[in-house]
Amino acid sequence: MTNEELIAKARQAQQNAYAPYSGFKVGAALLSGDGKVFTGCNVENASYGLSVCAERTAIFKAVSEGIKEFAAMAIAGSGEGFIYPCGACLQVLAEFAPEIKLIITDEKNRSKEYNLQEMLPRLFVLR
Ligand SMILES: [Zn+2]
Repeated sequence: MTNEELIAKARQAQQNAYAPYSGFKVGAALLSGDGKVFTGCNVENASYGLSVCAERTAIFKAVSEGIKEFAAMAIAGSGEGFIYPCGACLQVLAEFAPEIKLIITDEKNRSKEYNLQEMLPRLFVLR
């Protein structure tokens, strides 16, 4: 799967975002090690703290279906500029895929690629 195809799936998932409070709609597409794609969108709640990001929605969907190896994630959001994952989502990604490729996009579908360790160099590890 190309980066562009994964970005297209993230954009598609963004359409399902439930963001009546922030208006900030995000979609994520997670590519598993065996080539499946799990998408997610942000889901907000009137009790703001209960809201969940698109990235974690996609991860939890995959893990709940028994998939725990991931190769890449594309993230697409509304607004201007590149949309980066929050720290909570990076930590959750690191649990399963510390080497995952992250494809970050802007409103014009320009993209940048990062390794997760570049974005979260000192992640929490339970010892
Ligand atoms: Zn997040």
